[in-house]
Amino acid sequence: MKGFKILEIYLNFSCNQKCIHCFNGEDFRQANKDLKFSKVASDIFKMRKKGCNWLSLLGGEPTVYPEILKVVSLGKKTGYRRIMTFSNGLKYSDAGFVSDMKSAGLTDTCISVHGDNGELHEAVTGVPGSFNKVMAAIDNLKREKINVMIILVLNALNYRHFPRIVRFFIAKGIRNYMFFALKYQGRMNEGGDSNLAVRLSEAFSKIDEVRKIFAAKRIKFPSILHVPPCILPKYISHLDNYSTRPSTMLTQDGEAAGMEKAHKDLVFKPSCRECVCYAGCSGFDPGYAKIFGDQEFKPLKKV
Ligand code: SF4
Repeated sequence: MKGFKILEIYLNFSCNQKCIHCFNGEDFRQANKDLKFSKVASDIFKMRKKGCNWLSLLGGEPTVYPEILKVVSLGKKTGYRRIMTFSNGLKYSDAGFVSDMKSAGLTDTCISVHGDNGELHEAVTGVPGSFNKVMAAIDNLKREKINVMIILVLNALNYRHFPRIVRFFIAKGIRNYMFFALKYQGRMNEGGDSNLAVRLSEAFSKIDEVRKIFAAKRIKFPSILHVPPCILPKYISHLDNYSTRPSTMLTQDGEAAGMEKAHKDLVFKPSCRECVCYAGCSGFDPGYAKIFGDQEFKPLKKV
């Protein structure tokens, strides 16, 4: 991301999948909260003038936004050097749509996966056949030379298979990854599926094995999101929950969307003030602490 200033736009809350850990709650999903194209366009212009050169499109599911091709095309015309979607991948199983997105200016997409087979993936997505569609999507995107990044959210069903899942996608030629811990908001807090909840220390218990796989394949080890440093101190330079640098990410309202934003929904416990990482830490998820308590979050004396 060096040399890039990112604009994030949440285009919609609509989605063609029903993931049981979706962090958009029922109130958001029911309401028609698609941004108007005129608002999206004016934000793209405004933030380009402020120096943003990377456009990230999120939702909901940005590919089901009715004017998605116009948005991507406008991003390209106004000079954004990278244009990325964060997607569940379903729409990209249509080769024609991928070709249209490429022509419009799409350079990158992040695809959320939940396993290396239909059973693990569809236990989360709730859509039969979605795993095969994601596999087709990856092939279509690679054929069009659109960069693919895999997002793997670790949960109670898949964390034991973490190394196997990583090997599977590396064998498919994917070299960019992000690993996420679950967020305990939205569906997870609506009496959602407690079968997915897992302690952070368990979820990442195979991380050393995964790091060896990356090293053996000479693939850059990825970022890990939603995990505070006290859980994975050895991986501190990979944690988005920890930063000593100012954010270079802006929302369409011009708000910095790094640490400053994260601090809004996360919490600390009183002893966090004794932690050497306190100044740069975003805190931990209060929804997680409701289920598992806060004992895992132990102030660090050094890193
Ligand atoms: S103890 Fe608190 S401040 Fe330190 S890393 Fe954990 S959550 Fe962050």
